[in-house]
Amino acid sequence: MEKPVFSIVSPVYNEEPVLQRLYERIREVMDQVGEAWELVLVDDGSRDRSAEIIGELHAQDPRVRGISFSRNFGFQIAVTAGLDATRGDAVILTDADLQDPPEVIPDMIAKWREGYDVVYGVRGNRQGETWFKKFTAKAFYRTIDSITGIDIPLDTGDFRLMDRRVVNVIGSMKERNRFLRGMVPWVGFKQTGVHYERHARYAGESKFNSVRRMLPFAIDAITSFSNFPLQLAMYFGFFIAFLSLIAIVLVFGLRLMNGELSGQATTLAVVLFLGGIQLISLGIIGEYIGRIYEEVKGRPLYLVQQSWGIENLKRAEVTSNATKDNRN
Ligand code: UDP
Ligand code: MG
Repeated sequence: MEKPVFSIVSPVYNEEPVLQRLYERIREVMDQVGEAWELVLVDDGSRDRSAEIIGELHAQDPRVRGISFSRNFGFQIAVTAGLDATRGDAVILTDADLQDPPEVIPDMIAKWREGYDVVYGVRGNRQGETWFKKFTAKAFYRTIDSITGIDIPLDTGDFRLMDRRVVNVIGSMKERNRFLRGMVPWVGFKQTGVHYERHARYAGESKFNSVRRMLPFAIDAITSFSNFPLQLAMYFGFFIAFLSLIAIVLVFGLRLMNGELSGQATTLAVVLFLGGIQLISLGIIGEYIGRIYEEVKGRPLYLVQQSWGIENLKRAEVTSNATKDNRN
């Protein structure tokens, strides 16, 4: 098969009702672009018929290629596997649910042809999303921006085009905790955005609609790009040392003037307060140690159970690091 110029990657988790439509919409748009393209679908351990549908699409049109994981590994890992499998000169990452309209892809391609290496989708309106989701998303972006020091463009999701050289760099980054929205800006090169309206899901429901799913995402984002939480303990330490200095002076003063200090309750409050801060600090250190432990174990990033039209998968099954070597 002809080597594609454009690769579209979509992670798929229980997206049975949307896959056929996703393929059709991508085909309509990409056939108009007029260059060879491929659609790489990564089934992230779906429990519905998503994997079979990927197989059927591949049988219909070999430009659809696919991977199916042995279980659910999560969005970031599914995208990583998809990127590993692409062959195009430019790779477009898009959700499977058609919230990111494929019609924006030609705009991204135009920017890429102008010489940009990364073209973000910047979302304007977000139809069909709850107030809570929009609010938390906004707060999250602002926090990340101020803590991590990495300039993550505001109001961007994962919908974006990346040049081959950016995809190769991302593939060579070995970390298991893969916060792509931070990794891509980290890479640098020439980056820009195109505006678009984010649509409601075509069908099915969101998998990131609960605090239980979003909180780990936020913690991953912060810990993988910043040591700020670790420094918090030190800042607290300085602050409390400063306070106690003032307290010592006050206590001396009161004693000299024969004033009274209520004893037990104050002591208890201070001890509990410090105990609390120490436990929080320990927890933060624990969080980082846990992450170091995860990295050190060096387990494969993902396990592939089945694939369609993807060569050299043997090594991808063995380790994540091996997959990057067989990319081209
Ligand atoms: N997804 C995935 N693995 C997961 C959860 C989601 O591959 O564990 C995929 C999902 O199929 C979709 C994309 O990630 O293509 C975004 O998920 P979703 O639409 O549920 O999130 P939202 O758009 O609501 O943030
Ligand atoms: Mg969605």
